[in-house]
Amino acid sequence: MSRLVPILDNGHGGMIGGVYQTAGKRSPKWELGTLYEGMFNRWIVNGIIEQLDIMAIPYYHVSPEPRDVSLGTRCDRANTIHSKDPNTYLLSIHANIGGGKGTGIEGFTSTGATASDRIAELFLCNIENDMCNERMRFDYYSDGDRDKERDYRVLTGTNGPALLMELGFMDHPSDYKKLWDKWHRQELINSLVGSIDQLYNE
Ligand SMILES: [Zn+2]
Repeated sequence: MSRLVPILDNGHGGMIGGVYQTAGKRSPKWELGTLYEGMFNRWIVNGIIEQLDIMAIPYYHVSPEPRDVSLGTRCDRANTIHSKDPNTYLLSIHANIGGGKGTGIEGFTSTGATASDRIAELFLCNIENDMCNERMRFDYYSDGDRDKERDYRVLTGTNGPALLMELGFMDHPSDYKKLWDKWHRQELINSLVGSIDQLYNE
């Protein structure tokens, strides 16, 4: 039993009284309306939390408030948790923007071989198998695993393993429709929960 426990992070602010709390970080205003990234990220993290509660799998959450908790604060919270409970890893949930051209799912760890790589590989391998109609923007060839490596603050500012998932592009017409689709989101949530379950129970 590896008993690894996720520290969940929904990137960016959410909605307060119908007002999105973060500048930018949204889709174009197309036929289904504006998809605000922080709102979408909460839909996913809240769906994960619902299943983890039912499965009695523990978790932490560094950004439960609807306000936009800064990256520094989210890193500090994750590091405080990790210092008390070292068997934890950060899972930061996002949706992407790609100038209208990008499409698909990708996952990032910090650069170099780290403890994050094994965890990221499990999430990305599972999501590739679970969502077989989705385009995966994986980096198979540079170092043999699926993650891309980028020094995002939430990845380098946290002391434990950390993975950032981008679940689709808000400004790509077909990704935009999928991100609004409840059943598509449920498939994403189910895959992420499956990986969390494996890291805790296997
Ligand atoms: Zn984001």
